[in-house]
Amino acid sequence: MSTEQTKGLIWMDGKLVPWMEASVHPTSYTMQHGYGIFEGVRTYQTPQGPGIFRLEDHTNRLFKSASLIQMQIPYSKEELNRAQCDLIRQNRLSNGYIRPLVFYGALELGVHAIDQRSQVMIATWEIKIPPDAGLEKGLHFQISGFMRNSTKSVMSKAKATGNYLNSVLAYKACKRDGYDDAFMLDAQDHVSEATTSNIFIVKNNVLYTPTTFSILEGITRATVMVLAPELGYPVIEKDLSRDDLYTADEVFVTGTMSEIKAVTEIDRRLIGDGARGPITRKIYEKYRNVVTGNDPNHIDWLTIINQ
Ligand code: PMP
Repeated sequence: MSTEQTKGLIWMDGKLVPWMEASVHPTSYTMQHGYGIFEGVRTYQTPQGPGIFRLEDHTNRLFKSASLIQMQIPYSKEELNRAQCDLIRQNRLSNGYIRPLVFYGALELGVHAIDQRSQVMIATWEIKIPPDAGLEKGLHFQISGFMRNSTKSVMSKAKATGNYLNSVLAYKACKRDGYDDAFMLDAQDHVSEATTSNIFIVKNNVLYTPTTFSILEGITRATVMVLAPELGYPVIEKDLSRDDLYTADEVFVTGTMSEIKAVTEIDRRLIGDGARGPITRKIYEKYRNVVTGNDPNHIDWLTIINQ
């Protein structure tokens, strides 16, 4: 996803503003303190036109994040859903990413200025990378020295801007060491999640995924928990240790952007035979059919945008 985008419109508190003209004051409270919430949503080309995947679930999670950090959203769920559909239409997107962000502007500075008026912006990006780029090779992960945000310090189930400092630190450190991404353990040393995705392992044809204790409850994770049993693979939520990862037959990560990606090396140890495993591939293929509107059983997960 390119960050050099200069075209298209951004939804700013109900107004559609040209990309280069959308601005927020640099003293914004959210920028100073990391107090904001956001979503990451995908739209796909489907046979019926562009479709947003699990839009209502993303919007519900945005409202849950707001409630967790006690922030007001000055729009209804329906208004934000409609705004995202309009933006996709206006920006003529089919394969794209949508980022709604709720933030505080520059009315007051200081941590104690807590009762400010929230603002909302929604931006979109076109996704040009082919979905299957690098899938067979898989990703090489490091288990990070950075612990996943403790549930005693932050609301880990909120998709809150400040929570991501943790992910950025783990990601930067692993990139410096030559890895693609990092897993984090929680305060109890259980496997928690990756920097921007959830984790599944496969052992003897059964899928295991960490419990929701310290993770962001991913919508892709929830989707896999429906799709895998349909393919005949049960899913069990359970505490996992570092060695469960090393000894898995297959490991994959899930996320709105990453979709379903195989992890083929962890800390330089091969997982399985070091290539994407057959169960990861089957789940990926099923997922792609669902998100692109080619699975009649899950068409309800798509909000089709009429042009
Ligand atoms: N964990 C974190 C920390 C994330 O940022 C994301 C991406 N939103 C996920 C998990 C996966 O969530 P989802 O499947 O809803 O994109």
